[in-house]
Amino acid sequence: VGADRQMAQRLREQLPSPILELFEDVGRLADGNGMQVYVVGGFVRDLLLGVNNLDIDLVVEGDGIRFAAELARYLKGSLRTHEKFGTAVIRWGDQKIDVATARREFYQYPAALPQVEASDLRQDLYRRDFTINALAIRLNGDRFGELVDFFQGCKDLELGLVRVLYNLSFVEDPTRILRAIRFEQRYRFSIEPQTLGFAREAIARQMIRELSYERMVDELILILSEENPAPALRRMTELGLWEFLLPGLEWTPWIEVEVAAVPPLLKALAEAGLPVPQRAWIVYFYVLARHLSPEGLRFVNDHYPLKQALREGLFKLHDQGNATNQALMDWLRGDHPLSRLEAILRDWPDEAVLALRAGFSLPDTLRLTAAWREIRQTRPRLTGRELKTLGIPPGPVYARILNRLRLERLDGRLEDAAAERAFALRLVKGDAPVGEAKGGHHV
Ligand code: ATP
Repeated sequence: VGADRQMAQRLREQLPSPILELFEDVGRLADGNGMQVYVVGGFVRDLLLGVNNLDIDLVVEGDGIRFAAELARYLKGSLRTHEKFGTAVIRWGDQKIDVATARREFYQYPAALPQVEASDLRQDLYRRDFTINALAIRLNGDRFGELVDFFQGCKDLELGLVRVLYNLSFVEDPTRILRAIRFEQRYRFSIEPQTLGFAREAIARQMIRELSYERMVDELILILSEENPAPALRRMTELGLWEFLLPGLEWTPWIEVEVAAVPPLLKALAEAGLPVPQRAWIVYFYVLARHLSPEGLRFVNDHYPLKQALREGLFKLHDQGNATNQALMDWLRGDHPLSRLEAILRDWPDEAVLALRAGFSLPDTLRLTAAWREIRQTRPRLTGRELKTLGIPPGPVYARILNRLRLERLDGRLEDAAAERAFALRLVKGDAPVGEAKGGHHV
């Protein structure tokens, strides 16, 4: 009881008040419906670790969908239900709340007796991946804050261990091998020795081949979305996982350097006020895939469910990556105008440019960052409206003229608006070449 009071206290201290109030409302609503409700999984794990996590997963002993519908109505949030799975998602402002019905489909014996109260929750938690993810906190009024720890998850959190709940866990769901690595590296834990043995066994039995590429890629993306994926990628190498995920990838010190260079690169971008890619995983994916053999690349192209733009980026890196790196080097070493850099990088997706730059030294990276910022921020002084007052008939030619003015300005020519006006008129008269539709500088 003392521990539970401590837990309730911890909820009150650590949670932002809207979440705490939400939990109290959830508990009251469940009481009114005669249901038991718990917050489970990553939220509880991170609460105990003192890490921010506002992904709320609720498990209801009772009709989860009916409960979710009531909660959504009460919160005036939106509701989406998946009847088949007994689950629902509530959106309440920016907050997402997953609601699941405690699952009972796995019984230990075919003729097991009807289970007592908490056993529905126990069954639900037993199906989960690791002890540290199988913790729950009760939200019902009278027992608000009671920690439910059937599998000694708390102890494993203290020991820093990632441990499966049963021996065949990885065989049943091999994505858990990648999940184990992700949690191990994120929290600087260790995969518990017996669990590691089970993982190695499942890998040796090639269980990962049973997975769909979709699920494999989803898990790989989660790893690549971690703040610093390098240690997890190294661990994957050590466990021999690349042969299933990116066949032919050889983890060299050079790849390691490139991967490790990405977080500081992203930081430099943010500090320079430049846009940081929302999906940083793509940068890592490019960094890795660039080192694939042509067969490896074909494998990825044939099997991975990737968006077309990403595929194009991959082939571009393979076909033109080295030449483009060389061109960037030349630009850095020589005294070249900004419009030259713009021309080198113009058709490259942002993430692929970052993957290219991952191999550069820090001073070079900073110079490129500064140059790129200038390229991004430079606009011509004239606008379309002013072109109109010059008597130039509106049309697609405007974009070409404005782009050409931008490039001239980038290189420090056309020192004021008057010079731009004169230049625009010369362009239209044909005294100066306008350039290609894409805004080509070389004409
Ligand atoms: P993250 O902080 O990365 O979001 P999370 O633990 O919240 O971690 P989710 O992928 O959102 O991870 O999963 C939520 C919960 O669902 C987990 O805590 C775990 O209990 C369970 N879970 C997810 N994937 C699996 C799986 N493959 N096998 C068993 N349980 C899983």
